[in-house]
Amino acid sequence: MAKIYYEQDANLDLIKEKTIGIIGYGSQGHAHALNLRDSGCNVMVGLYPGSKSWPSAQTAGLRVGTVEEVAREADVIMVLVPDQLQKQVYDESIVQSLKAGKMLMFAHGFNVHFNQIIPPSDVDVTMIAPKAPGHGMRDQFVKGIGVPALVAVHQNASENALQMALAYGKGVGSAKAGIIETTFAEETETDLFGEQVVLCGGVTQLIKTAFETLVQAGYQPEIAYFECLHELKLLVDFIHEGGMAYMRYTISDTAEYGDYTRGPKVIDEHVRQNMKQVLANIQSGAFAREWILENQAGRPSFNALRKQNAEHMIETVGGELRKMMPWLQKKD
Ligand code: NAD
Ligand code: MG
Repeated sequence: MAKIYYEQDANLDLIKEKTIGIIGYGSQGHAHALNLRDSGCNVMVGLYPGSKSWPSAQTAGLRVGTVEEVAREADVIMVLVPDQLQKQVYDESIVQSLKAGKMLMFAHGFNVHFNQIIPPSDVDVTMIAPKAPGHGMRDQFVKGIGVPALVAVHQNASENALQMALAYGKGVGSAKAGIIETTFAEETETDLFGEQVVLCGGVTQLIKTAFETLVQAGYQPEIAYFECLHELKLLVDFIHEGGMAYMRYTISDTAEYGDYTRGPKVIDEHVRQNMKQVLANIQSGAFAREWILENQAGRPSFNALRKQNAEHMIETVGGELRKMMPWLQKKD
């Protein structure tokens, strides 16, 4: 079982003596900066000149500087710019300020694990990865609750890296909920696997294939949309709140019997083999290499796939049907 750290395992004083530089002020960045500030830490936010986030961080009462300035001044540098920009920001504005005694931090292991960022060996390299979007993390903190997080140590130059990372985790509020020990490899590989196989790739392909099956069999697309997409949220909410047993408690016995007997016919042994292949592709670095090259080439496949998927019949039918449900808020 995983090792989990709580409040009594982390010493906030370790980090209160330091200057913490938060690079980026987006979803994660704003929550980390404000939570640490409210925990009594000395926080600076690093942005590029002209960033829209610059005035909003200042209005929140935070000290803001360029990434270079913040990297120079900070003892602890948390990189919270989008993953595909981290290498460039690191190479241009952070690496020259890294020296012994500093700690470089991440909230996702992609760039370190896949060797896009190779920090000097005399700095600590750690991760605190909250298991919530930034806005949820800030909202819970304000209510006096923390969100769970992961902690990992990639480089322990100071021989105190885990304690330093846990102090940071306590500062953002996560020690209240629990901070689970992991590694950069485990966090990165399982994160990619989860989003590819279940959360994003698996679920959209399941919905789309089921929708197409009904439509091709002559059923109306509007009916197929409700059955295969719209109702999903209700059931997922039950699973999220109380596990699969709770979801099954809320459905009819007919639905439950169909679940047990037909589910394994759809997600069969063949799908398990496909999942193993997707995992092997992540572990070998093949997926990371493909995605890095795709970005370097200006994202030709990504942009084409985005367009093609946005034009699928399920999206046009869904757009019309959601107008019948004004309580559904579309976010651009
Ligand atoms: P985001 O897109 O919400 O925010 C990125 C921020 O970086 C913005 O403030 C942007 O202005 C700034 N930025 C962009 N280019 C910059 C540059 N050149 N110099 C300085 N700042 C720049 O990103 P996010 O979702 O907060 O993700 C940040 C990290 O957190 C990623 O590693 C991500 O994997 C990780 N993470 C995200 C979540 C989440 O729920 N969003 C959860 C856990 C971990
Ligand atoms: Mg994830």
